[in-house]
Amino acid sequence: MEQENKLFQEVNGGYTMLEAINEAKRCLHCKIPQCKKGCPISHDIPDWIHELSMGNLGNAMNIINSKSNLPAVCGRVCPHEKQCEGHCVLNKKGQGIRVGKLERFIADFDGDMGLIRENLLPKTRGKIAVIGSGPAGLTIAGDLARQGFNVEIFEMEPEPGGVLMFGIPEYRLPKDIVRREIKKIEELGVVFHCNTTVGNDELTIDKLFELGYDAIFMGTGTGRPQKLEIPGSDLKGVRQAIWFLRRVSLYNEGNMSRDEIVVHEGDRVFVIGCGNTALDAARTAVRIGASHVEVVYRRTINEMSALHSEYEEAVEEGVKFSWQSNIVEIHNDNGRLNEVVIECNGERRTEKADFVIMAVGSAPESRIVSTTTGIDVDDRGYVLTREKPYGMTTRKGVFAGGDVVNRPSTVVLAMRDAKQVAEGIAQYVDAMKLMESINKGGELKKPEDQK
Ligand code: FAD
Repeated sequence: MEQENKLFQEVNGGYTMLEAINEAKRCLHCKIPQCKKGCPISHDIPDWIHELSMGNLGNAMNIINSKSNLPAVCGRVCPHEKQCEGHCVLNKKGQGIRVGKLERFIADFDGDMGLIRENLLPKTRGKIAVIGSGPAGLTIAGDLARQGFNVEIFEMEPEPGGVLMFGIPEYRLPKDIVRREIKKIEELGVVFHCNTTVGNDELTIDKLFELGYDAIFMGTGTGRPQKLEIPGSDLKGVRQAIWFLRRVSLYNEGNMSRDEIVVHEGDRVFVIGCGNTALDAARTAVRIGASHVEVVYRRTINEMSALHSEYEEAVEEGVKFSWQSNIVEIHNDNGRLNEVVIECNGERRTEKADFVIMAVGSAPESRIVSTTTGIDVDDRGYVLTREKPYGMTTRKGVFAGGDVVNRPSTVVLAMRDAKQVAEGIAQYVDAMKLMESINKGGELKKPEDQK
């Protein structure tokens, strides 16, 4: 266990204070910052980098807080090379500013030192239920709590965080970092109810309205993995990547035994797909002791959705890649998976195998929409929402955002969507309360007030 824990240690180190300040000093503080254009939540990047370059970490953190509830997470897992860093003008002269590492440095420093104490508004504007505590739910909760709403989160897992806690592995995103970000949201007055599923006999959307919530947000993600139907895909040795990653995460936290991980030391593992989830599963299989891990992808290297840097790290760790290839058959010996047949350019080869992991996408669960009326979804189960108020579903007062609406994407895109939905919810609740008070007759101004 100790040996394995070491393997799950974070792979990319952070900056020291000296390194961070030196990197910050390289920023040109451009008048029209391209990095900000490249950031989905339009972070005021040059402003907080400038504060950092002068050693003002509290000011830097305050600027970051005004746009993001999860900077220590984004600093680690955002696709920076395609976003802020990729847009930095210094790329033309060599190396762009390492924005992600700087954001991570400031957020970690604030986490260690507890620099910021926010002034909180009294929670008088309304009561909001948030279902799901992934990046979308956490963002809504943080934004609305800061604006004076009473927010409670309902999460079916034993701990909040969504994919941040049970998907992205420890070596890329340490769970203590996620917990620290969540604690900051809790300190804004947000209440968490874990082990609480919405959409069963006890708790439904209708029940939440009966309990007095003014609006409900669904940030329930895409927890239903897609399956490839190939001969042998029903064998026990074929598992879903998110199932596997969740188990390893529970094991790393001491909440599951090694036997329950199913992949054994020395196993030969084949992973289907080449996105974030596939590479996380492959690199996790290496860490858990598999002797051969091969990613089988039907397209080319240029078409994979995983980041190139992640691919390079996977190669360094020993993961093999087969491009333009498909697993077309999975064989067994007395019910135990023992071979895969891989086809590439019309040629077939048979490989000894113990385990096949599928990472070919996911879709929303229907738990909530099937236990209530009025929430329309498309033919794949994604929730339909309105432009005005932004994020409201076809049921009045129920909003949705993040992956359950937009398809599996990224942490920061789920956050961006959720930030807009938070505005939609605030507008809706304010308007409803105003109409209520008018309908009740409202209080009339006294003559002296009207001057
Ligand atoms: P989720 O994070 O899925 O959260 C949904 C939450 O809702 C979960 O906690 C779930 O338990 C809860 N829930 C669902 N139904 C109910 C219910 N009925 N009642 C109560 N609770 C419920 N993105 C990046 O930017 N960088 C990466 O490196 C990256 N790596 C990834 C690796 C993996 C393995 C995966 C699966 C995804 C990765 N992503 C990455 C994508 C990113 O994590 C998602 O886009 C993001 O988490 C979506 O956020 P969300 O809040 O919409 O949903």
